[in-house]
Amino acid sequence: MPNIQQITQYLETLAPPIYQENYDNSGLLVGNSATEVKGVLVALDALEAVVDEAIAKGYNLVVAHHPIVFKGLKRLNGNNYIERTVLKAIQNNIALYAIHTNLDNVYRGVNFKIAEQLGLQNIKILAPKPQTLAKLVVFVPETHAESVLQALGSAGAGQIGEYKNCAFQVSGLGQFEPSDKANPFIGQAGKLEKVNEVRLEVILPIHLQGKVLAAMYASHPYEEVAYYLQNVENLNQEIGSGAIGELPEAMTEQDFLIYLKEKMRVNWVRHTEFLHKKVKKIALCGGTGSFLLSKALSQKADVFVSADFKYHEFFDADRRILIADIGHYESEQFTQHLLLDLLKKQFADLTIALTSVYTNPVNYF
Ligand SMILES: [Zn+2]
Repeated sequence: MPNIQQITQYLETLAPPIYQENYDNSGLLVGNSATEVKGVLVALDALEAVVDEAIAKGYNLVVAHHPIVFKGLKRLNGNNYIERTVLKAIQNNIALYAIHTNLDNVYRGVNFKIAEQLGLQNIKILAPKPQTLAKLVVFVPETHAESVLQALGSAGAGQIGEYKNCAFQVSGLGQFEPSDKANPFIGQAGKLEKVNEVRLEVILPIHLQGKVLAAMYASHPYEEVAYYLQNVENLNQEIGSGAIGELPEAMTEQDFLIYLKEKMRVNWVRHTEFLHKKVKKIALCGGTGSFLLSKALSQKADVFVSADFKYHEFFDADRRILIADIGHYESEQFTQHLLLDLLKKQFADLTIALTSVYTNPVNYF
């Protein structure tokens, strides 16, 4: 059976932790990553009742979307639900792992799942993130340009949308003078050497930085590699918040809300006034999403489906868009199925189940 690290590493190749928001606390919260996994319980919230269920089932890992621990815990006396959950998990050797905003921010994450549930087409990230891409420039002797380029491509550099192995190269003259302690691939100590070199440029997502640099060093023939790595401001279409897509057919606002309730399995939608037009372009964000309303407006969405809208935030629709608030848990409930499917696909022999605990703290009467 895999250990915890194998499971978290797999999930984090899909949702690298570097993309979590700075207020977040995704990752392994309780437990030792070397522990062999007996069974995985998947939940939206790792509450005490979920830990109880894991104990009863003989599982020892809870994979949840929301981290039960957000802020620093200074004592563990069991005085509130967080301390009780953590304490119980530790006492019963149950590991707690959270995959939160990093799963929100990747293309095939939380929001893609909602968009898929709503049958949307042409799904894109609503607010692509800046500062998640870097540019690598490396100087390579002509003889090795192709092999270095290939190594960088295999490590994941040069991917732009549906195009891979994107790169630019230009030839020029490089020069260097080895010291008497150097062990140069070309040239001799104390003698200025001029070599026909190629300047290679590739773009890469920041989570692959370590891997791409390792590939560069491994494939480059020089003892000292001349390169520079810079962050670039380009928006990364693969990383960011929310999603936007289109319904296959335009429908009236009333019909859309009926459709939304059916697809998202909810009984209640809080929404702004109808604008009496057909809707087709749907922006969405699982969980608290009011911060994305301006993005939904600038992308000309007809509807913004999200949760946790406050009274005054509904006014911001200002007859420009239909806000549909379906509830935080409700909007993110299928994240559990996303995690379950991903884990089952990769770890076929492992026992993995969805929690039977309904962890939504909000009730409707
Ligand atoms: Zn959430």
